[in-house]
Amino acid sequence: MDFELPSEVQSLVKIAREFREERLAPLEEEFLREGNVEWALRPKLQEEARERGLWAIEVPAEHGGMGLGQLAVCAVHEELNRHPMMFEVGGSPEPVLYNASPEQWDPYVRAVIDGERRSAYAFTEPGTGSDLGAVETTAVRDGDDYVINGRKMFIGLAERVEFLILFASTDPSKGSRGVTAFLIESGTPGYNIARLLPTMGDAWVPTELEFDNCRVPATQRLGEEGKAFSLADEQLVHGRLKIASYQLGIAQRCLDDAVAWAKERTTWGEPIGSRQGLSFPLADCAVELDVARLLVYKTAWRADRGEDIRTDAFKSKLYATEMAQRVTDRCLQVFGGRGYLKENAVQSYFRQVRLWRIGHGTAEIHRWMIARDLLGIS
Ligand SMILES: Cc1cc2nc3c(=O)[nH]c(=O)nc-3n(C[C@H](O)[C@H](O)[C@H](O)COP(=O)(O)OP(=O)(O)OC[C@H]3O[C@@H](n4cnc5c(N)ncnc54)[C@H](O)[C@@H]3O)c2cc1C
Repeated sequence: MDFELPSEVQSLVKIAREFREERLAPLEEEFLREGNVEWALRPKLQEEARERGLWAIEVPAEHGGMGLGQLAVCAVHEELNRHPMMFEVGGSPEPVLYNASPEQWDPYVRAVIDGERRSAYAFTEPGTGSDLGAVETTAVRDGDDYVINGRKMFIGLAERVEFLILFASTDPSKGSRGVTAFLIESGTPGYNIARLLPTMGDAWVPTELEFDNCRVPATQRLGEEGKAFSLADEQLVHGRLKIASYQLGIAQRCLDDAVAWAKERTTWGEPIGSRQGLSFPLADCAVELDVARLLVYKTAWRADRGEDIRTDAFKSKLYATEMAQRVTDRCLQVFGGRGYLKENAVQSYFRQVRLWRIGHGTAEIHRWMIARDLLGIS
């Protein structure tokens, strides 16, 4: 029997494909020329996708979502990433938010699911990245409040969202076991966006944030004191798998474009695709993409069965992101000079995929975690 996605996932992928072809494809020229589309358009597009049934796909049904799980999330994101603007389905709270108290539920979880509010995720700091347990931002209890001081770096979308999920140390002597999560409303006094950080990825402009005696009520703490690290870790597992699924769509799109060009362009009277110098790298792309897809889908399927996918999520993101780097590079080469033009989607992907070997945990840290599991090192 052939490997097949469940029918409800296939239906969703079909909706995603139609949405991409009808609504995203016409924006591609502008996206490639300008490096982005107008920001206000993104929430509008998410609403349009919602009308077609693409909304809150990974949110459990009891919270009003589609509850379709990781396989659906991966398949839909693979499909959407065949467009270079990296469109995200709306209405899915960061999983860490499911630890909200009953009082926090409506303003922070329900509001995200309903599409009324959005969050940014603030863990990394100028001096703390791979070593997340070394968070230097502090949150000191003062009566009914916490007072927050420190800096965060590389925080995506902070200037565009309604609240921040902030990780700060409530007990520096305990390292990662002293890290606590907080919900910080944008505009809270003492919380400022210090600067924007333009990147080689065009659309991504993360921010550096500063907290200067920022006072928040203790009711804004998310979960228990010192427990944030384990909550965040769980979140990062599913985030890694989703990022791995982006690479499938990216690589498929680049390969499709490169194959079409290899058939069209002729030199010395023959299509360039007839030369093994070009066709063999394309064959390698096809093989590596298939391998990545099987790994990502198998891991997603296991996640939906409630199995522990921690190590397989590391493997999926590591392999898929490095695969996408190789595929975008080889495909760009197939286009010759045309591959270097802004109007070519492959160059945009080539630059964008570089992030994914760094963000959400670097390739080196992924290898370290996989090796630890392999060798039984705790
Ligand atoms: C565009 C963009 C958006 C981002 N968005 C967010 C966001 O929204 N929220 C957020 O919290 N963070 C975000 N990040 C931060 C991102 O997660 C970090 O950059 C990443 O985790 C790496 O941390 P670092 O930059 O401090 O690198 P470092 O930890 O300084 O690592 C530098 C290099 O050293 C290597 N290295 C470090 N330690 C070891 C070791 N023990 N063994 C082997 N190699 C090692 C790393 O692999 C890397 O190659 C974003 C980053 C970017 C670029």
